[in-house]
Amino acid sequence: MTLAFTHDTLAQRIRFGSGEAAASLSAEVAEQGWTRAMVIAAPAESELAGAVTDGLPVAHVHDDVVMHVPVAVAERARRAAAEHRADVLISIGGGSTTGLAKAVALTTGLPIVAVPTTYAGSEATNVWGLTEESTKTTGVDAKVLPRTVVYDASLMLSLPVDLSVASGLNALAHCVDSMWSPRTDPIDQALAAEGIRALDAGLPRIVADPSDLKGREQALYGAYLAAVAFASAGSGLHHKICHVLGGRYDLPHAPTHAVVLPHVLALNGPAAPEADDRIARAFGSVDGLTGLQDLRRRLDAPRALRDYGFEESQVPDAARAVLPAVPPDNPATVTPDVLEDLLHRAWEGAEPR
Ligand code: NAD
Repeated sequence: MTLAFTHDTLAQRIRFGSGEAAASLSAEVAEQGWTRAMVIAAPAESELAGAVTDGLPVAHVHDDVVMHVPVAVAERARRAAAEHRADVLISIGGGSTTGLAKAVALTTGLPIVAVPTTYAGSEATNVWGLTEESTKTTGVDAKVLPRTVVYDASLMLSLPVDLSVASGLNALAHCVDSMWSPRTDPIDQALAAEGIRALDAGLPRIVADPSDLKGREQALYGAYLAAVAFASAGSGLHHKICHVLGGRYDLPHAPTHAVVLPHVLALNGPAAPEADDRIARAFGSVDGLTGLQDLRRRLDAPRALRDYGFEESQVPDAARAVLPAVPPDNPATVTPDVLEDLLHRAWEGAEPR
């Protein structure tokens, strides 16, 4: 097979070390000479944020964080950054918190240091997202890529098992979708395969023992690789579906990904044998779907969108909204009927086919 591709690697420093977040942040702030940090952390993460930013020159702590970054929430955070003359944004939290920092960076150009506390992976991408009137808009801008990411798996010890599973499967979705996304290349696929291996190793350990730091580290490492692959490869069918579901019906991000993923893999896997083979090898299974379903069983993964507020009556509307966003080069042919069937199965928690 001929190898020919163009790959952009995003410039970002990664500091990875359990129990090292405070020291890493302090080293970053000292090195860059920042003097007015705006810390962004949701109320639920405020204690954790306080612990890792203790001693830093913090000008303002902003806790007005809402999932999917509504425009009004972004505007309030931008005003706060200006009022407090922030020179750096330190985001501590999940994808919603990182997303808010990105919304501020988008219009102000302020640098971000991201301290993720879930496996969402937003910190490793140059993708921003904003929601207005039930429509989620995403875009790509170099300004929103965090300059540094501080990965500290000990900050994940408080993440409940169900959230860890859903978030870990959200990361796994980045890997799987990266195998056939519009800009995928062999580097993305190598990163995605190693991401699957690490998540498959780490997540069951977390379910068996939520305080297993080694399991948390594996999952976090896998989530980072997943996000790097996704940032380069772009959104495939899976992400197009989940973006519509999240923005239009306000469904929770991570569980939505966790539920939809096997249905997209069942559809695309047979139409993309090379990608499916890579996924299978990463899982150590006979095919991609078998590997994913084995993992999902071990994790007792989310099964049905109806458990997260999606109504059966919304299926046709969702299918119509997803259709125009389907990537033209998606491996399997996607007709309105195929989409409706997929979404209906995801709604009821049926076996994927
Ligand atoms: P989230 O940030 O909303 O967090 C989910 C819940 O987990 C929240 O209630 C939060 O308080 C809690 N939580 C977070 N860390 C915790 C911890 N360590 N201990 C206890 N509780 C904790 O959800 P998410 O799934 O991390 O992120 C979803 C958002 O990220 C969505 O808006 C999605 O679109 C965005 N996202 C963006 C990208 C990108 O590249 N731009 C990539 C992935 C996700």
